Amino acid sequence: MRVPLLDLKAQYATIRDEIRAALDRVVESQRFILGPEVEALEREIAKYCGCSHAIGVSSGTDALLVALMAIDVGPGDEVITTPYSFFATASAIARLQARPVFADIDERTFNIDISAIEARITPRTRAIIPVHLFGQMADMPSIMEIARKHNLSVIEDAAQAIGAELNHKRAGSIGHAGCFSFYPSKNLGGFGDGGMITTNDEDMAARIRLLRSHGFRAKYYSEQLGGNFRLDEIQAAVLRVKLKYLDRWLDGRRRNAAFYCESLSRSGTIKLPYEMPHSRHTYNQFVIRTVRRDELIAQFKQKQIGCEVYYPLPLHLQACFKELGYKAGDLPASEAAARETLALPIYAELTAEMLEAVAKTVKLP
Ligand SMILES: *Cc1c(COP(=O)(O)O)cnc(C)c1O
Repeated sequence: MRVPLLDLKAQYATIRDEIRAALDRVVESQRFILGPEVEALEREIAKYCGCSHAIGVSSGTDALLVALMAIDVGPGDEVITTPYSFFATASAIARLQARPVFADIDERTFNIDISAIEARITPRTRAIIPVHLFGQMADMPSIMEIARKHNLSVIEDAAQAIGAELNHKRAGSIGHAGCFSFYPSKNLGGFGDGGMITTNDEDMAARIRLLRSHGFRAKYYSEQLGGNFRLDEIQAAVLRVKLKYLDRWLDGRRRNAAFYCESLSRSGTIKLPYEMPHSRHTYNQFVIRTVRRDELIAQFKQKQIGCEVYYPLPLHLQACFKELGYKAGDLPASEAAARETLALPIYAELTAEMLEAVAKTVKLP
């Protein structure tokens, strides 16, 4: 049975009429940039995340960049983050001529290892960017405690984790800012690029609003060097429809995850994802680990079942970061994860037969 890694057509089929009505509304209004849809989405996302402010931006990558700009990260500064993430987490730091400093991950959760952070703090450290990888929040209480002690900012990379919770607090509501992505394959995905920054700090929100539109206080009068980091009305209108269904979809993902965990619990060849206590993992990816990954990938290919390696090369070993001076072996938990992890189909619309087919394929003799 063919099972794709993700099937956005299956999702679209369930909301097609509503989406088309929303698109029509925007097209008839002929208002395309920062209008009523973006404003409404900002209010709705702020409420959903439990934050006082949300500012729509052009992508998750730009959310990270603008959040760092808003706290004045620049040349000579250091920002501590995880090497096991999507590239944008580290590139946002480097694009401001600041230095990404990588702390290894916890091998169970794939999130930044709390015990590795403090040793990397120097007088130049300005911020920490934890990533809520695969949809499960990093240990935010511990990170905030370290940040308070050393007077650092915390920018949550929540690109994969909208709706994730830890101790009943939502991703993006604990740090000084939270960065979200609406890339189509994210749990809340638009029809193109988009992103959002959440914050509970009013001054921070005001700065971000300035920066996303060339630093214009009044049109054509620039107060700060910003850029075009705006979200458009079409994306916002689509996302507002989808946001209403997000919790249902997240529950579907969690239900599918529970099925895999139950049906694969006795497999000797794979390790299942670990859920922290009091954590609502949202499974943007369902990631198993195995030292027999190549065999498993071959089996998936043969059965026409989708799977993907997130991420094959950790950030500290990327060619573009060569001058940071890291070498293979420096961050062993991240390097092992990059060698051993594999994401399985987990989207809410998977049928029981599809789930069975995937689970059967995972069981290597
Ligand atoms: C997707 C993603 C981003 C970037 O978001 P874009 O909207 O694609 O720019 C950043 N960080 C993480 C962890 C992501 O998964």
